[in-house]
Amino acid sequence: MTHINQQHILQTLAEVSTLADQQGSKAPLVLAVSKTRSAEEVQQAHEAGLCHFGENYLQEALDKISQLKSSDICWHFIGPIQSNKTRAICEHFDWVHSVDRFKIAQRLSDQRPNDLPPLNVCIQVNIDEEKSKSGVNPRDCLSLAQQILLLPNIQLRGLMCIPKAAPNKADKAFGKMAALLTDLQGQLPEVLSLDTLSMGMSNDYPLAMKQGATIIRLGTVLFGPRNN
Ligand SMILES: *Cc1c(COP(=O)(O)O)cnc(C)c1O
Repeated sequence: MTHINQQHILQTLAEVSTLADQQGSKAPLVLAVSKTRSAEEVQQAHEAGLCHFGENYLQEALDKISQLKSSDICWHFIGPIQSNKTRAICEHFDWVHSVDRFKIAQRLSDQRPNDLPPLNVCIQVNIDEEKSKSGVNPRDCLSLAQQILLLPNIQLRGLMCIPKAAPNKADKAFGKMAALLTDLQGQLPEVLSLDTLSMGMSNDYPLAMKQGATIIRLGTVLFGPRNN
């Protein structure tokens, strides 16, 4: 049986809010990335004060979501999406960060149950334009956003990225993401929901915060290293 180190979690949350104070900005939402962690660990992390959890693998996530369905956790899907997974994703999640093609967005909208509010989505951007990496090319972001905005059951919230591993380069990538969101907001001034930059992980979240991240996705710094 594994246990969460609540001290780790509290320390990280305190660090995030200190950094935000130093920058004079609003603290970003901490999305706890709980892939490989058990439902029990998620429950303990929830008790330590975390409310938003991010999952990469659908089946693993569905098991945890059903075990924790009496809690008020907000679930975010952050992994690659195959089209045969869209139904379960839009039935069980509140957010999807990894939309990078219209077909997936359309299926999520079509399949979103009527009794749920619109699904919050971010467009995943391949900000370093790496070969064979998920995400839309930055140049194609506006046209994908315009298409997504026509879908009734999803609400476009902003952009997400996973930059190249090199942390010194990440600074530049995060800056490009911020510029891309500003550009999108300028092109689509009627879309008031475009308020999200999902960027920054355990090794680079301070840089992402400096560039205006509104959601940081943290696994290792909250839960310790993943061993599988
Ligand atoms: C695993 C993962 C994270 C968290 O990574 P850490 O380095 O453990 O903080 C964040 N975002 C995505 C998309 C991930 O797959």
